[in-house]
Amino acid sequence: MEETLKILVVDDDEVDRIAIRSALTTAGVQMQLSEVGNGNDAFSVLSVTAYDCVFLDYSLPDRDALTLIQQLGSSEIKVPLVVLTGQGDEQITLQLLKAGATDYLSKSRISPETLSQVLRNVIRIYRAEMQVDLANQQLRETHEQLICQNQELERQQQQIQMQNFKLLEASRLKSLFLATISHELRTPMNAIIGFSQILLRPKFGQLTRQQADMVERILNNGKHLLMLLNEVLDFSKLEGGGLDLKAERFNISKVINLVVSEMRSLADAKNLSLLVQTDLQNPLVFNDPVRVKQILINLLSNAIKFTESGEIWVEVKELPGNRVVIVVQDTGIGIAPRDFKHIFEAFRQVDQTITRKYPGTGLGLAIIDSLVRMMGGKIFLESKLGVGSMFKIELPRQITLPTVAAHAPVSQLDNDNDDFFCPAKNPHQSSSQSRKANRIS
Ligand code: ADP
Repeated sequence: MEETLKILVVDDDEVDRIAIRSALTTAGVQMQLSEVGNGNDAFSVLSVTAYDCVFLDYSLPDRDALTLIQQLGSSEIKVPLVVLTGQGDEQITLQLLKAGATDYLSKSRISPETLSQVLRNVIRIYRAEMQVDLANQQLRETHEQLICQNQELERQQQQIQMQNFKLLEASRLKSLFLATISHELRTPMNAIIGFSQILLRPKFGQLTRQQADMVERILNNGKHLLMLLNEVLDFSKLEGGGLDLKAERFNISKVINLVVSEMRSLADAKNLSLLVQTDLQNPLVFNDPVRVKQILINLLSNAIKFTESGEIWVEVKELPGNRVVIVVQDTGIGIAPRDFKHIFEAFRQVDQTITRKYPGTGLGLAIIDSLVRMMGGKIFLESKLGVGSMFKIELPRQITLPTVAAHAPVSQLDNDNDDFFCPAKNPHQSSSQSRKANRIS
């Protein structure tokens, strides 16, 4: 052993102390040796000084080694202890080891070899024990830290759950409020529209040109307001899962031509060409005609609204796998890829400012998104800023109406149909594709 060890010998017998000292010296142990003759002095020095090893005589004048070891233990004084036993003390050794002695050695066996051997072992054992203690202590601390972190996480989780619950409740109330208000406003709005139409009929009296102009404005604004109210009502129904599709067999080409002819005047007013192609080998589909019409009206009115000059093309094509695709393409302002995801969210518009140029509720695409999901279809968007946009709605020729989950909320229905394209989930699905739709005349 190269290092200088601090060793304490506790023995009242001068001869024994000399024997230990000379055995250690002969063994070549480098040491700083201290000696005391009773338990009291031993306790005092061990309370203030750390030793590498203590050789402790079992029988001390004021107490035995067992009592001293127990005292040291209860004062949390830790030191490697070798108890030197005399004749007849052997039966106590197990108790000594249990109380905290590191080893024991019969005085009759004291020799340089045995002492240095015991010393080495004791110090090695003690240091290993210390390391284990330290590791245990660190483990305990880590464990306590983990418990604290766990408690904190649980607290945060509860808070999130609470906030989630509040958000759901707020959202439910918002939907209810929207549904009630828009429903209530529709009745007076229908009266305004109906009476304006009656006023415009000549049999109820001739209006002056100025009066007729004003009534027409009332009528047009009323229709616009009704359209906005219907949009809000539809959206709140879709959100709450209260909108059911009423599917029937119908001619999709006819519906598309009808919508295009109804909206042609809006395109004409902006000098936009509105082109349509509806050649299908089999134009019959099984779907909700009212909702298919609504999807097309929303897409077409957006195309007209966001296009200042150029053309708008509407096309319906057959696709393999018993599907059809409705394409609405324009030469309008276009949409930046970073906005692809957001525009399908409710109340989201590329320009969210109050002074924005183009009016609207920001619900049209959210409604389309929900309807297309319900129909088991997919939406694809290709667009380039300043060049134009192309919305493609892929639909199964025959939709499957939900049976068991007929009244489940829309989000629940989503889970049943993982594979269809959701623009909000896959915003970049078609952003990288070039704008390659054929021109239709
Ligand atoms: P709204 O038209 O009422 O604003 P929508 O949900 O129909 O709401 O559309 C959301 C947003 O998507 C629009 O405000 C617009 O920014 C963008 N958008 C939709 N269609 C087009 C289009 N054809 N061209 C350019 N931008 C469009």
